[in-house]
Amino acid sequence: MSLRVAAGGGSINPLNRKKNYRIVNGGTCFKVIIRTLLLNVSNCYIVGCEETKEGIIIDPAWDGQRILEKVEELGLRIKAIVLTHGHIDHVGALQEVQEATRAPVMLHADEVDEFDESIKELSYRDTFRAAEIPADRLLQEGDKIEVGKLTLEVIHTPGHTSGSISLKAAPDMVFTGDTLFAGSIGSVGSEEGYDQLLTSIQTKLLVFPPGTKIYPGHGPGSTIDVEKRNNPLLMML
Ligand SMILES: [Zn+2]
Ligand SMILES: [Zn+2]
Repeated sequence: MSLRVAAGGGSINPLNRKKNYRIVNGGTCFKVIIRTLLLNVSNCYIVGCEETKEGIIIDPAWDGQRILEKVEELGLRIKAIVLTHGHIDHVGALQEVQEATRAPVMLHADEVDEFDESIKELSYRDTFRAAEIPADRLLQEGDKIEVGKLTLEVIHTPGHTSGSISLKAAPDMVFTGDTLFAGSIGSVGSEEGYDQLLTSIQTKLLVFPPGTKIYPGHGPGSTIDVEKRNNPLLMML
């Protein structure tokens, strides 16, 4: 079975050049659709099960209309909106996308305060009408989000924020939010956060097989192997 990765337009993401490859997830093979929307501020990912046409939106960062158009083009019914963390640059289109899809909003339990702050800020700026958007499901390490034949496994990777998560979609595919980027790592607010971030990367992400593709919250994709060898911020590990 093949896994198709394609750009949302104008992308230079090297992952997007690779159109087809095989995946096996938990002993079952199925086709997965991934669309990377490199929005102005952050990346939004649409991940869908090609057989059931059910899908997940990861980080509806901005430009709800473009996200919804892409969802429609793919013919997906969105069953979950998952936030890698609550920062304002990852939730700018949340209200629009949530109202259109009626999908439950999911984030890590430790991320609620950060999330609430962003929603408040967006309502002050008149981007959102409501000052509150309730989270429908609070996630923990190891939780599984199942949509169609697709399973996203929650990996708690604190450091950038206390409730930052990464999402494993297959044994060799992980969405890393603002924890790990191509050639860089997420920003932190304290020395403790920095230690936590490096520990998260070392113990939760670098343990993936070398060929694992990473899909970060900003910038282009990469692989675990490339980051291990070339990421200057991981050299001390
Ligand atoms: Zn962030
Ligand atoms: Zn960010």
